[in-house]
Amino acid sequence: MYIVATPIGNLGDITLRAIQVLAGAALVACEDTRVTGKLLKHIGIKAKLQRLDDHASEQVRARIIDEARRAPVALVSDAGTPLISDPGYRLVREARSAGVTVTSIPGPCAAISALAMAGLPSDRFLFAGFLPVKDKARRETLEGLAGTAATLVFYETAPRLERSLTAIAELWPDRDVAVARELTKLHEECRTGNAAALAAHYAAHPPKGEIVLLIGPPAEAEAPVLDTDALLRAAMAEAGPGKAAGQVAKATGINRAVLYARALELKGE
Ligand code: SAM
Repeated sequence: MYIVATPIGNLGDITLRAIQVLAGAALVACEDTRVTGKLLKHIGIKAKLQRLDDHASEQVRARIIDEARRAPVALVSDAGTPLISDPGYRLVREARSAGVTVTSIPGPCAAISALAMAGLPSDRFLFAGFLPVKDKARRETLEGLAGTAATLVFYETAPRLERSLTAIAELWPDRDVAVARELTKLHEECRTGNAAALAAHYAAHPPKGEIVLLIGPPAEAEAPVLDTDALLRAAMAEAGPGKAAGQVAKATGINRAVLYARALELKGE
């Protein structure tokens, strides 16, 4: 079973191996047969298509796996690398446990392209898919990643970009942020700055198209404060907020009252 990456905008980005594999596949599992049909037409390939989206039943996956025992089968998504915020995880897992050899034909991935061009630290990064739509859930997701010493990479939609940037500006006014938009396409742009400046820009110029949002890691000074949350959470797994605050105060030398106030906030979350 071949997991095949396809272009994220520029059709010239299909790889030679992707073309070979798709041409030789007895079956191509895809998210949307119309989208993949267009791609295959562009590269002059006729293939049997099978729809496989997030709601595919176990029987659909079993049929694809059965076919893969007899002949080469390919999995593609609408664009980019399958399984990266796209369907395929269950299929791959089940294929592997059925003894089918699974291999990946690498190629375009919006998260990786954005990271490559944004100029943010790339030695450690955390890809976290789409940010939640609702303000509270979005804020909680961001807060949960506050202490992560890595560049954070999210997929985002144009209508939600400004609100996400505003939330980031409230939490981390000083962090470097990048918005990578319409990668590999005619109107590709990668804009960098702090979140407030980017929010103001996109309020004045509402964005269109597909977006990757990246947030640089915390500065050294930010990290100890944020680690305290993890320490408090760990201590509160065993004890109440008062005792937990006392333990963390002893371990870190941070004021107990400050920690206690924070412990109560964490408990209420
Ligand atoms: N599997 C794909 C990949 O490897 O990039 C991602 C699929 S996910 C459903 C679609 C999201 O990826 C879009 O909403 C956008 O956030 C991001 N994306 C896809 N193509 C993009 C592009 N050309 N430029 C910027 N972001 C893109």
